[in-house]
Amino acid sequence: MANLLAEQGVKVQLLEKLDETGGLSRSFDRGGFQLDIGPHAYYAGQAPLYKDWIGAENILDVRGIYGVGYKRRQITTPINPTNLIKNLPVTDAAALALDMAFRKTLGKLTAKPEPEHFESVDQLIQARFGEKVTQFFFRDYIPKVTGLSARAVHEDWFLERDRFYKEHNLWANLLKTLLKIVKPVTTDGATGQHGQLQFLYPKRGAGQIIQGLTSKVRSQGVDIRLGYSVTSVEPHGDGPVTVKATNAEGVEETFEADAVASTIPVTALAKGLRPLDTELVGATSGLRYSALRMFYFILDRPRLSDKIQIYFPEKKYLFKRIYETRNLNPDMGSAGRTAISVEVCINPGDANDQLPAEAIQERLIGELGDFYGVGRGEVVDWFTHRVTECYSVYANDYRKNIDPLVKRLFAEDRVVAYGRTGAFRYNFLSDRVLAASAKVAEYLLSGRPKQEVLGQPDPKNPFL
Ligand SMILES: Cc1cc2nc3c(=O)[nH]c(=O)nc-3n(C[C@H](O)[C@H](O)[C@H](O)COP(=O)(O)OP(=O)(O)OC[C@H]3O[C@@H](n4cnc5c(N)ncnc54)[C@H](O)[C@@H]3O)c2cc1C
Repeated sequence: MANLLAEQGVKVQLLEKLDETGGLSRSFDRGGFQLDIGPHAYYAGQAPLYKDWIGAENILDVRGIYGVGYKRRQITTPINPTNLIKNLPVTDAAALALDMAFRKTLGKLTAKPEPEHFESVDQLIQARFGEKVTQFFFRDYIPKVTGLSARAVHEDWFLERDRFYKEHNLWANLLKTLLKIVKPVTTDGATGQHGQLQFLYPKRGAGQIIQGLTSKVRSQGVDIRLGYSVTSVEPHGDGPVTVKATNAEGVEETFEADAVASTIPVTALAKGLRPLDTELVGATSGLRYSALRMFYFILDRPRLSDKIQIYFPEKKYLFKRIYETRNLNPDMGSAGRTAISVEVCINPGDANDQLPAEAIQERLIGELGDFYGVGRGEVVDWFTHRVTECYSVYANDYRKNIDPLVKRLFAEDRVVAYGRTGAFRYNFLSDRVLAASAKVAEYLLSGRPKQEVLGQPDPKNPFL
């Protein structure tokens, strides 16, 4: 957004709490590997932007497969009867395959129309995929990500992911094939070869994209202030908006702007809006994000797996997903070594949040030993990174909690919120966030009323 506004001669100031830009799309350099927060796959829809920011020579065309780790086996996606039979113990494969076959034939004949809304994500998944699949993949996985039982999670948890997978045609390669063997389509996100996904990845990690963009906007004259934590945002009708932020020295500074676009967590924005609305703050305090404790291990072996990323639904593993950066860029790091990124979801303050990093890494090495036979002696280096706001937790009552903020912001023409944490949505950078940035820039340049350009107030709208 900053670069689009700067291109039109608008003066832009960017306030960032951390000492670098990038947010969730940052990478950390260790032992020659650039390690991301989560396995960032950039979909080709925004390729012209990536090329502009870092040059086409820095963008890799990646093709690869995903997997599900279950009972010490890696099931290659698509999860269809053939792959299940190839990869799972015969009793599990038979139970799942029979359930699928039943749903494909008899189930279709007896299926009732779906209700408009389900009471929980558990009900929705059961209705769509059946009890066996719900048990197999979702019932322990959802609590790992959200900290809540699948019955306490809103159907949007699935619908948001479904929206993402549908828009990129990924269902064809992943869970949709549970019910139907779909021929993969050649589009953004899926290649013609069965099971393979296709996306773009920067040679030096996900963060390279944002570093390129940062250099570009600096050269356009955008004033980037690092270490500035925004504490309040006060619109004054048609007048300028006052923003207060605490700088790295702890000193409060005041800024005046014609308009403010916010990508900070909605919970922080609600607390900072002036005049203070205690009811709105009370409602948004019921909203929560899952945090991630990322653990990165450099292993003295050439490769752990052939999969881009592997999901682990079983309760006994603390990690929910592992990815291996060499499967994105095989030239990273030093020969004979691989780096894996292990995601542990936590809720700030919970037992796993309070454990010291050493204790968690010990447990994770034990779990990697259990699943992959990794020995402690193979771990040549490790480090950890904690990110507080990663996944919006769609508790059953989340809409009631976000609605007052949505209504309040849509009444303000000069303050707009968007992004991943900024819109409380499962948005990807290469997916909704860049598109939303362009739309917000269009809105701010247009001078037209918000609803005319950005649509109606709705928690499902990517803008607030
Ligand atoms: C595990 C994981 C995997 C992902 N995989 C992909 C993928 O494969 N492909 C893809 O395209 N995207 C992926 N994403 C999403 C991508 O990282 C985000 O969509 C993108 O970073 C969102 O950008 P954003 O600006 O909305 O939010 P963020 O990146 O969260 O940026 C918000 C910024 O606001 C700053 N901030 C917070 N509070 C304040 C404050 N009070 N004052 C000032 N600054 C503040 C933060 O420090 C941060 O820099 C993934 C994300 C995660 C967590």
